Amino acid sequence: MPSIFTKIIEREIPADIEFENKNIIVIKDIHPQAKTHLLIIPKKEIPSINDIQEGDSELIAELFFVAKTIALKLWIQDWYQLKFHVWAKGGQEVFHLHLHLTSDL
Ligand code: AMP
Repeated sequence: MPSIFTKIIEREIPADIEFENKNIIVIKDIHPQAKTHLLIIPKKEIPSINDIQEGDSELIAELFFVAKTIALKLWIQDWYQLKFHVWAKGGQEVFHLHLHLTSDL
């Protein structure tokens, strides 16, 4: 069963897309917790940080590279936060890896 983020990647459900390349999509969070709240999502369906493999290293690094590139583009580079929720007790609701980028600037 594809995750909700895979359905967004496949354009089966709509989303506000901020950026996309062959590995990653960045969307606006549907329930923003800050003035800027983006989700940086690898297209590969990795359930959580606990599931990343050694072969995913470049992809994980790219998530952070995309995060800082977008922060610069949006002029929020002086004040932003990056966060992964890990598993249900860590607050994770969607089990398709995603990095939250939030800023109140
Ligand atoms: P997490 O708690 O880390 O799993 O975060 C999942 C995030 O995905 C939440 O902040 C939700 O608001 C967000 N979310 C869920 N469905 C959608 C959607 N269809 N489009 C955009 N964001 C979504």
